[in-house]
Amino acid sequence: MKQQVMDYIDQSRDEMLALWEEFVNVESAKDHKAGIDSLISKVEEILQAENFQTRVISYEKAGNAVVAEFGDVEKEKPIIFIGHVDTVFPKGFLADHPFQIKDGIAYGPGILDMKGGVVSILYAVKALRAANFDTYPLKVMIVGDEESAHVDSDAKNMLLEESKNGAFAFNTETGNLENNLSIGRAGGSIFELEVYGVASHTGIDWKSGRNAIIELSNKMIEIDAASNHEAGYTYNVTLVEGGSAPNTTPDYAKASIGTRCQTKAQQEMMHQKLEEISAKTFIEGTKTTLTYLGGFDPMEVSDKNRALFEVVKKTAIELGMDEPNAVVSKGSSDSAYSQSAGVPTVCSLGPVGDGNHTPHEYAIVETLFERCKLLAVTVLNV
Ligand SMILES: [Zn+2]
Repeated sequence: MKQQVMDYIDQSRDEMLALWEEFVNVESAKDHKAGIDSLISKVEEILQAENFQTRVISYEKAGNAVVAEFGDVEKEKPIIFIGHVDTVFPKGFLADHPFQIKDGIAYGPGILDMKGGVVSILYAVKALRAANFDTYPLKVMIVGDEESAHVDSDAKNMLLEESKNGAFAFNTETGNLENNLSIGRAGGSIFELEVYGVASHTGIDWKSGRNAIIELSNKMIEIDAASNHEAGYTYNVTLVEGGSAPNTTPDYAKASIGTRCQTKAQQEMMHQKLEEISAKTFIEGTKTTLTYLGGFDPMEVSDKNRALFEVVKKTAIELGMDEPNAVVSKGSSDSAYSQSAGVPTVCSLGPVGDGNHTPHEYAIVETLFERCKLLAVTVLNV
């Protein structure tokens, strides 16, 4: 069966490149729901042709998602594949950066993160189907709002719930030149801290003023000091605004705070600490609100993830590829949710490249096929 799967992928090279091009040449930033939705429909169509049962989950503001299953998932736990079709590149970016291949390197918005990964999933699944693989049912979940951390949808819960019946999960997020695969990932949240003070003339009436910027500054300093680099969690004050005129006591100030952590316990503790600091008052008469804007849970490192990584590693060696490393990534991904559901998960299995989220994002073409093979053969080896 292995040879059959490998041959199928070898024979599909042109088709895979054509699909990669087709995917990259559809704009799919957060502000282009129509583009994202058309990609989700395309994924659905491809999987329907493989006799998958598909469901598109429509969201009003966010890009849609698709869940596709093959086989009896009630009876047997499925192998799960996770990916996303949205990118960080704004509307209009594509016009000057269309899909192109030069000297074995592919360029274009989302080429690496992660339209190549989605192509890998689809062709791994097609190859397994063509070889009549039926040891496990297969389940593909592709979302359309990963880059915005699912703030406008309930895709996080959807991924968590839909993962609960999984046997193993693979996420073909951005591969990297170091050949690192993620068995854990940082979590991160974004909060907004808003302080309301009292405006006054800074000369005539300075006494009745309540300075929102000073109140906010005290809080920001406490928040920053609460970071613990050794333990792996940090608070980052990233944006600040406030005040209305040089001679008016500011009655409003706002800060954005990003958090990073390794475990769910840290994430909860950090949220609580922010609540505590927010509730303190340094200047009587000011009022502070804290708003959670969104974020990712951490993908916690587990023995189950390590064990699944070992299968991937063995498969890579078997296929004559470089031996991958198991790492805990500083970036976040939807693997957090399959891991949270208790499913062994390995992430960063997509094609290899660099420059993620930048105009020079690129992927090494040959790794599209390599990673597709690695994924499909790993499924045969689990
Ligand atoms: Zn991504």
